[in-house]
Amino acid sequence: MKHFQIAFLGGGPGGYVGALRAAQLGLSVALVETDRVGGTCLNRGCIPTKTLVKSAEVLREIQRAEEFGISVEPPVVDFAQVMARKDKIVSTLLGGIGKLLKESNVQVIEGFGEFKQTGCLEVKTKNGSEIITADHIVLATGSVPIRIPIPGADLPGVITSDEILTDTSLPEQLVIIGGGVIGLEFASIYQAFGVQVTVVEMLPTILPNGDEEVSKRLIPLLKRSGIDILTKTAVKEIRNEDRLVVVVEDNKGSREILANKVLLATGRRPNLQGIDVEGLGLQTERGAIVVNRQMQTNLPNVYAIGDVVGGIMLAHVASTEGIIAVEHIAGHSVEMDYRAIPSVSFTHPEVATVGITEQELKTRGTKYKVSKFPYSANGMALALGESMGNVKLLADEQGVILGASILGFQASTLIHELALAVEKKLLGKDLAHMVHAHPTLSEIIMEAAHGIDEKPLHLA
Ligand code: FAD
Repeated sequence: MKHFQIAFLGGGPGGYVGALRAAQLGLSVALVETDRVGGTCLNRGCIPTKTLVKSAEVLREIQRAEEFGISVEPPVVDFAQVMARKDKIVSTLLGGIGKLLKESNVQVIEGFGEFKQTGCLEVKTKNGSEIITADHIVLATGSVPIRIPIPGADLPGVITSDEILTDTSLPEQLVIIGGGVIGLEFASIYQAFGVQVTVVEMLPTILPNGDEEVSKRLIPLLKRSGIDILTKTAVKEIRNEDRLVVVVEDNKGSREILANKVLLATGRRPNLQGIDVEGLGLQTERGAIVVNRQMQTNLPNVYAIGDVVGGIMLAHVASTEGIIAVEHIAGHSVEMDYRAIPSVSFTHPEVATVGITEQELKTRGTKYKVSKFPYSANGMALALGESMGNVKLLADEQGVILGASILGFQASTLIHELALAVEKKLLGKDLAHMVHAHPTLSEIIMEAAHGIDEKPLHLA
C-alpha cells in the first residue's frame, strides 16, 4: 500500500494541473487515471476541436484568396488527413503532459479508481487491484455527454462529440441537436468542409449563457455562412429510414429533416462513476458534487474540482479549481473567484465573453453604461479582411468595467485584456489611456473603452 499527501481521482485539466501544482509545492502526489491524462479537454474536447477549427479556417482563407489578390486552384479537402493532424497534435501534447508529470515526480497510476472510504482509493489496474492512501483526496472525474431521452437517440449514426471526433468521413447532411458552444463549434467546422448543417435549439436563442445581444447577432452571421439554425424548435424523434429522419416541432407544427449523422450536443453531466456517493455521504446537488470556495466537499480532507462540481464546465476553470484546492491543502489562504472567467466559442466568427452580461445587469436592476466599437472602424481588421463584429463593454456608473463581450476575429485572444479589467476592477479610462500598439485589433478595445465616459475617437 502506497501513501501520498494528495491523491487525484481523474487526470483531466483539473486533476493533472492540480497534481503539477502540488508537486511544485513539494507535496507527494498520486494521479489515478483510467483512460489518458489530459482528460476530455486534450483527448475529446478543447484541443481536437481547435485543430479542426484551424483546418476549417485554412480552407476558408484559401477560398477567399482572390479577395487578397491571389489566384489558386479550388482546394481539395482530405478529411482523413485533417483528422490525422488532429491525432498527431493530441499525441504530442499527451506525451508532453506525461513527461511533465514524470519529471515532477507525480505518480501516475493507470486504472479505474474507486472511492468508497475517505483517505483511500482502490484502483483496478491491468495487473489487478492496488490500494493507495492519501491525507487528502481530490475528486476530478470530469463529465460525460448527456444523451437526451428522445426516441431514436440510441440509433446508429446518432453520435456525441466523443464519436464525431473519431469519424474520418464527412457526412453529406449533419443535424446538430443543441445550439450551445459545443454544437455551434462543430456547426462552423463541418459547414466549412461543405457539409449541410442544421442546428436545432429548443430555446429562443443560441449560446444561452452568453450576452443575448451577441447571440442574436451571431445567428444571421452563421446563417449567412450556410448553417441552418432553428430556434424555439424541439426534436421529437429520430427515425432510421434510408437516412436518419429528425422530426422537429416549432410553433408552426412539425417537419422532418434528413441527415446522415445526428450530433447530440445537449450538454454534459458530472461523472460520478467510481465514487460511492451514498455510502460516503458525499453531498451532491443536481448530480454535481457540492463544494465551497476552497473546493472542499462536506467530507473531511476530500476536495472536488472541475466538471464534476458542475457550474462553468471549462478546462481553465477546472485547472484553476485544481490549483486552489492544492494551495488550500498546502495551507495558503485562497478562494475561487468566478467573476472574471473568460468563455469562448470558437465559431466563425468567434465569440468571447467575460464578467457580467447585460441581461444580468438588467435583472439585478444595476445602473450601467454600455459602449460598443465595431471591427469595421479598425485599420487592422480591414487589413486582415476581418471587419465583421464588435467589442461591447459594460461598466457601472463610476466606469468600473463589469463585463465584456467580443464578436469577431481573434475574440478568444482579445478577451484577456478585458478579463484583467474585470478581475482588477479597472475603469474604462484605465483601458482608454493605456497605449495600444497600432495597427492592432486591440485598438478596438481601447476605442470601446473611450466610449465608457466619453466617445470613441474613430467613430462619428
Ligand atoms: P475531464 O477532462 O473530463 O477529465 C476527467 C478525467 O477523469 C478523465 O480523463 C477520465 O478518464 C478520468 N476518470 C473519471 N472517472 C475516473 C475513475 N473513477 N478512475 C480514474 N479515472 C477517472 N473547455 C474549454 O475551456 N475550452 C474549449 O475550447 C473546450 N472545448 C470543448 C469541446 C468539446 C467537444 C468538449 C466535449 C468539451 C470542451 N471543453 C472546453 C470542456 C472541457 O473539456 C472540460 O471542461 C474539461 O475537460 C474538464 O476538466 P476535468 O478535469 O474536470 O474533467
